[in-house]
Amino acid sequence: MRIHDQKCNKLLSIINLKTHFLTHSIQQMLIICLFLIGSFSSVSSQEYFQQEVNYKINVSLDDKRNGLNAFETIEYINNSPDTLQFIYFHLWPNGYMNNNTELAKQLFSSKGKEKLFNDPELNGYIDSLDFKIDGRPIQWNLLPGQPDICQLWLTKSLRFGDTIIITTPFHVKIPKGVTSRLGHIGESYQISQWYPKPAVYDKNGWHQMSYQDQGEFYSEFGSFDVSITLPDNYIVGSTGNLQNEKEAEMLNKLACDTSWIATLPSPEVDFPPSSNELKTLRYTENNIHDFAWFADKRFHVLKGKVKLPDSGREVTSWVMFTNQQAEIWKDAISYVNNAIMHFSKWNGEYPYQGFTAVQSALNAGDGMEYPGITVIGMAKDAYTLDEVITHEIGHSWYYSALGSDERRYPFMDEGITSSNEVRYMNERYPQKRLWEVYLNNKKLARFFHIDKMPVRQMLEFEWMAQARENLEQPINLTSEDYTTLNYSLIIYDKAGTGFKYLRSYLGDSIYDSAMHDYYRNWKFKHPQPEDLRNSFEASTGKDLTWFFSDFIGTTKRLDYEVVRLEDQQLLVKNKGELVSPLVISGMIGDSICFEKWVDGFDGQQWIKLPQGNYSEIKIDPRHVMPELFRLNNNIRKTGIFPKSDPVRAQLYFSLEDPEKRYLMYMPALNWTKENGLMFGVALHNGFLTPKPFEYFVMPFYSFNNSGLAGFGKVSYNITPFEKFIRKATFSLEGTQFGAPGDQNYHNLKAGLDLYLRPKNMNHLLTQKVYGKYIAASDLYQIELQQKARISSYLQFGYQLDKGTIVNPFTLLASAESGPSYLKTSMEFDYKLSYYGKKKGLDIRLFAGTMLKNNSDVPFYALAAGGRSGREQYLYEGTYPDRFSAFPSSFWSRQMTMTEGGLVSPVNETLGCSRWLVSLSLTSSLPGKMNKIPIKPFVNLLLNDHGLATGKGSPFFYEAGLKAGLWNFFEIYFPLVVSGNIESVSGSLKDRIRLVFNLNTFSQVKLNSGFGIQIQ
Ligand SMILES: [Zn+2]
Repeated sequence: MRIHDQKCNKLLSIINLKTHFLTHSIQQMLIICLFLIGSFSSVSSQEYFQQEVNYKINVSLDDKRNGLNAFETIEYINNSPDTLQFIYFHLWPNGYMNNNTELAKQLFSSKGKEKLFNDPELNGYIDSLDFKIDGRPIQWNLLPGQPDICQLWLTKSLRFGDTIIITTPFHVKIPKGVTSRLGHIGESYQISQWYPKPAVYDKNGWHQMSYQDQGEFYSEFGSFDVSITLPDNYIVGSTGNLQNEKEAEMLNKLACDTSWIATLPSPEVDFPPSSNELKTLRYTENNIHDFAWFADKRFHVLKGKVKLPDSGREVTSWVMFTNQQAEIWKDAISYVNNAIMHFSKWNGEYPYQGFTAVQSALNAGDGMEYPGITVIGMAKDAYTLDEVITHEIGHSWYYSALGSDERRYPFMDEGITSSNEVRYMNERYPQKRLWEVYLNNKKLARFFHIDKMPVRQMLEFEWMAQARENLEQPINLTSEDYTTLNYSLIIYDKAGTGFKYLRSYLGDSIYDSAMHDYYRNWKFKHPQPEDLRNSFEASTGKDLTWFFSDFIGTTKRLDYEVVRLEDQQLLVKNKGELVSPLVISGMIGDSICFEKWVDGFDGQQWIKLPQGNYSEIKIDPRHVMPELFRLNNNIRKTGIFPKSDPVRAQLYFSLEDPEKRYLMYMPALNWTKENGLMFGVALHNGFLTPKPFEYFVMPFYSFNNSGLAGFGKVSYNITPFEKFIRKATFSLEGTQFGAPGDQNYHNLKAGLDLYLRPKNMNHLLTQKVYGKYIAASDLYQIELQQKARISSYLQFGYQLDKGTIVNPFTLLASAESGPSYLKTSMEFDYKLSYYGKKKGLDIRLFAGTMLKNNSDVPFYALAAGGRSGREQYLYEGTYPDRFSAFPSSFWSRQMTMTEGGLVSPVNETLGCSRWLVSLSLTSSLPGKMNKIPIKPFVNLLLNDHGLATGKGSPFFYEAGLKAGLWNFFEIYFPLVVSGNIESVSGSLKDRIRLVFNLNTFSQVKLNSGFGIQIQ
């Protein structure tokens, strides 16, 4: 599969402290070790074996009812030393059966698709099964909770070498092809994972698994003989070799008629009526483990051939596509041929007789591989199409011929395939720039100084951002262990980069011959990671522990640092954990004079350099090593600061070249009542890729009070390796703006945020503990226009976030002490998603109490309603008119949703209390009205105030509507309120409040594949 359109998810998870189980764990580990020793010895004593499964399927397409009616005959040969009593079968169309299947759960958690298979159109299944073995009926059952797997009970034991014939009729209801990879869009059919198929039985036992579209394949090799009956005017692209001469002639004729290219047709999408005549097409192939076919009445067809480099054998190539993408597919035969040619050179000969690339409305990834055929979704241009077709052809080796377990070890096919893809694209488009693919605007590219950045840089950015956040996972995990984002970053990008690193270290010829050996040794078999490693080490004669154990099996980081240069010797320090080879180059400007590979080392090492007239030494100038930091990679032979890096001033921001330091700046304009109009500049060192040291300062010149105002924050991040704490951030921030009476208020914060390491990355749970010391001008005195003293505050908190697309939540427990008070609170924000990710019910629960309050200042107590600027004693939020009294001006209605969460302005008269509990509910509008930016809300609150003062009931309620966008700017209308609120707030117009929250825009993140995304 090739994936492109990943969205940035927040990944993280809970850590479970198990220190008190330590003794127990050690005991357990001993037991496990003993067990492993036992089981390894039994495994290693086993010879490699694989089962053989030969299929004969007759299937007819019913395009009126979107169904398949079929009969399947399977010859199953037990080559294992074990005697089998049952066989697991995959019935994967049942993955679309209801919303309890593994596929539904996966789509729900990764994409927020909720309605799914309850929709009759999206629903799919396989039925009418009647399994027989050697002609006799047998017992079989679906697995509980996994209706896409069944268990066939054999009537007699199947011993080593025995063969049985399994038959069954079956019917498939084809779902609408918008959720995964089996489906139809109108009368365009994508028929994959469609027939009953035995699960793999190997040395580790049975591998029965439900269908999921992340890490899909592991199947037995065998032969296929498939006959497809369908209306005569369908054009079919299929796995296998077509056996019908008449159909072959028709396709040849179609391929010869390329007159349509001259007058490229408009992208019509109508389907011609299906012919009443039927045809039956027969396809056969050996040594494959899967069979897919694609049928459309509108396909254009092109045919080509490619002569393989070693044997001269000819492979026939086909492409099939509709008018929709004709313009960019017209040269696609050359993409297929070139890729087959190159990959055959690098990996060994293409294993089959033909290859077909089919365009279709695929809905899971950009393209998908099947033996001898690939299906490609809508491509945006010819370059992307070439890239996707190339990737999928790469799977002819690392999936079709080398049938690894993709669910268990996805890197074995996606990682190596990605590496081949990138190598091919670099050779074919050496001049391709990143902006051409992601920005498509040269002027903008120049403006951002990325016009020379090679396209490969995006891969580096993608995994680097995650790696620097200390959110990596090892490469050798199962596909289910990764979030959608990390699956793309780790399995495609990092693993792909890793194999390029290995190739660069070994040299192309040694690497290619090792790959040839691996392919020859394991062709049409099920290799495992140790087989890949053994094959590579045998071929190269090298110990590749650094690669296969450390790079693949851990998240050890790669970061070499140049320390100094003396007498033709370079001192290099390994700052990372990975002890792996490094390449050192002598440079004159951008050109490389020499390259020297050095084996990895711990600590520091002197490296002898060759003579030459180069002016600078650089580690890895071609970016073949997945280095985490590159600013410490270079040293010049002369100069006062030989290790300094080029500094680039950049307006606004940019994608950051990891070899340069940045000073990014942007003009800024601001206004507050007291400062008046302010001009300033924002300075920062980039925020797209995380860095150890980060700063953002925004000073302003204020025309009103002729002074300085502004905001600044510096932070330092530490990311320990495999420690309980994933990231520690020390930060210092300060604010100064004008206040009434020609004075300024000040606020200084020193904080430490500790992000804990998630135990399971896939749970998307993040935990953070934080502490802050705050020194701020006393707001009470500021409001009285007295000279304000500085008051001190301390905050501590624990935050738990579940960052899933559906039903996300945040739990925050915090305590704060200030001048003569101490308060503590809990807040729980939960989004109950309705259908999909956008609609839902926002639930906010708050409970707080003052543990101590000896202060006369009312606003230190818990506030029932949203705080106005006059009540924000820590000066939080952006308030253009922070000190105005409600409702004297438009901006005086501004508030921040905190504590009790009431909208109505009740704090001053009824609000501040010793304890309070509240519940706030905000809902999306039903149906299509959801698009209107209006939401109804209800707030309920109980506090001690009414009880204490006798001013009516301690129970408050309000209900109304809010209008606005993204929590950025919202207006609240509390239409209905309880008597105690009404008694102090008066009519509706005196209750209308607004929220203005610039923080919504403060998080800009690098989004894999699509550049920048505002979260
Ligand atoms: Zn792939």
